[in-house]
Amino acid sequence: MKTLVVADTVWTGYPANPVFEPGVVEVEDGRIVAVGPVPGPRPAGPGVMDLGEAVVMPGLVNAHAHTPMSLMRGVAEGVSLLTMDGFLQTLRAHEEFLTPELVAASVAVSCADMIRTGTTAFADQYFYADEIVPTVERSGLRARVAWGIVELGDDEARARELAATTAFVESTDPAGVIRGWVGPHAFFVDNQVEAIRAEVDLAVRLGVGLHAHFSTSSEEDEHCLAEYGRPALHVMKDLGLLDVPLILAHCNTVPVDQLPLLAGTRATMAVIPSVAMQSGAPAAPVRAALDAGVNVALGSDNVCNNTNVDLFEEMRTLGKLAAFTSKVPNQVTSREILDIATAGGHRALDGGPDDGRLVPGAVADLIAIPISDIARGPRGAQSLESALIYCTSGASVRSSMVAGRWLMRDGVVGTIDAGAARAQQQADWDTLLGRKVAAEGARR
Ligand SMILES: [Zn+2]
Repeated sequence: MKTLVVADTVWTGYPANPVFEPGVVEVEDGRIVAVGPVPGPRPAGPGVMDLGEAVVMPGLVNAHAHTPMSLMRGVAEGVSLLTMDGFLQTLRAHEEFLTPELVAASVAVSCADMIRTGTTAFADQYFYADEIVPTVERSGLRARVAWGIVELGDDEARARELAATTAFVESTDPAGVIRGWVGPHAFFVDNQVEAIRAEVDLAVRLGVGLHAHFSTSSEEDEHCLAEYGRPALHVMKDLGLLDVPLILAHCNTVPVDQLPLLAGTRATMAVIPSVAMQSGAPAAPVRAALDAGVNVALGSDNVCNNTNVDLFEEMRTLGKLAAFTSKVPNQVTSREILDIATAGGHRALDGGPDDGRLVPGAVADLIAIPISDIARGPRGAQSLESALIYCTSGASVRSSMVAGRWLMRDGVVGTIDAGAARAQQQADWDTLLGRKVAAEGARR
């Protein structure tokens, strides 16, 4: 059955024809079949959803998340998780008491937070990926869930993790809204070269991508220069990593002169400006990456690092951080930032060429914000793109659709009971903390 989504403003993201006022998006079988201005009187009747005085736009894509970690939101405040010391003392000290049954409620909390703030698709990476998928399925979000791999050069760990990853990826539907991916935690740092070769082979064989952290510090380059006499991206190219869909999360310290290596490949720089700021790390070179022709996407990272998953805030932060570090106002334009958070994100997730835009053939993933919640300047003074980034927030998103299915209407998430999930998360946290305190007592 067809659904017609009608609104006073439809922002398509398509450069040649960006806005229809009023506009209509026609959806069938999970895809957009037509988009355009409302011809004559506004349509009405069965199958028509008229959102009235609202902006309809493509849903945002979170290209780097760790959904179970909302369980530990707050434990790392005041600590940089991009340092090994900070990671071990805060996160790892809690994660060692995490067991599979403590995952689902926190995934539900994260999914509800993402839907609530305008995200319609995300790339996840964590252990217990098989515990993540059922909750994401229930949420209705589009996702690439990567099985997190840490092997530290250990033959037994590598074999075990690769077997588990294979079984997990094969358990997901290649044509589904959710697909399993391969999640090496960090190349050369905790995934050695034998593992990387096997991970690339696995991704090629199963037709999926890899999702890893990269250049949070210069550790990969230091390792590769010492071991191979060449920087990391050159070694990664030789290993075939740039021939498969590849999400490189953070990229804070990636050398600008090496960005052309990523241009025209299937690799994506998934930047997380809030985490760079909160960790005192350098800003990822977004302007240089765009100029070099590299696909750039936006992520939240875990909420211990970031504290929230509101990609509207993340878009705004990207723009301000780029201007602040370069001393060039508007160094990355509002149009470019919206493209990063929509079409760039779908490219990161190995989506179709038009996904992330409201155009025929694209996936029917969209969100709506009441115009009254956008503090927009006068027409002619401020662009709609600028207003969407700098004059609204994820909290204003009222409607959300993924693959033609409504996940949120009138500000109410219909697929996840967020209150129940938060109550269960509190119980899970109490369990986790109880185990930690007991273990510390036993060690004394
Ligand atoms: Zn991360």
